Amino acid sequence: MSNPIEKQTSLDEQAVKDEAYMRQAMALAAQAELRGEVPVGALLVKDDSVIATGYNLSICRHDASAHAEMECIRAAGQVMENYRLLDTTLYVTLEPCAMCAGAMVHARIGRLVFGAADLKTGAAGSVVDLVRSSAFNHQLEVTAGVLAEDCGEQLSAFFRRRRQEKKALKMAEKKQGQ
Ligand SMILES: [Zn+2]
Repeated sequence: MSNPIEKQTSLDEQAVKDEAYMRQAMALAAQAELRGEVPVGALLVKDDSVIATGYNLSICRHDASAHAEMECIRAAGQVMENYRLLDTTLYVTLEPCAMCAGAMVHARIGRLVFGAADLKTGAAGSVVDLVRSSAFNHQLEVTAGVLAEDCGEQLSAFFRRRRQEKKALKMAEKKQGQ
């Protein structure tokens, strides 16, 4: 049995690490935004080092599967030369969708850490929980809500800006039509 105080310290240490990795995921999300994509970023960590990163590229790639997590899982498979990403932790700024959650189960990822919950399509507890379902032969450990407010604000700011841009464009078109 480990000393409860020691255990608390290691839990705190993990929380600090989780936040640091989530900040990196947010920086990746910003890369997506620079390309006009919805800002979602992901990275995969094994033994305290980042082995792969990804960000949303669905529009640029004309590919509905090019979510941040999928990009990250694909890159990690190349690095590890294995489709099974055992003993890894995936960090992502937004709760994964059903596709990404399914890929995480297939890849046998050990732990999922996500930022903002996705109440519309989240498949790690919000709409459905595919990553902890006993119906499958693999379950992930889940830590939800790491930097949730910051991750959520990154997304809402993007959508706010996009709505304003659309509105401005419409106004300009109207003006031209007059
Ligand atoms: Zn997804």
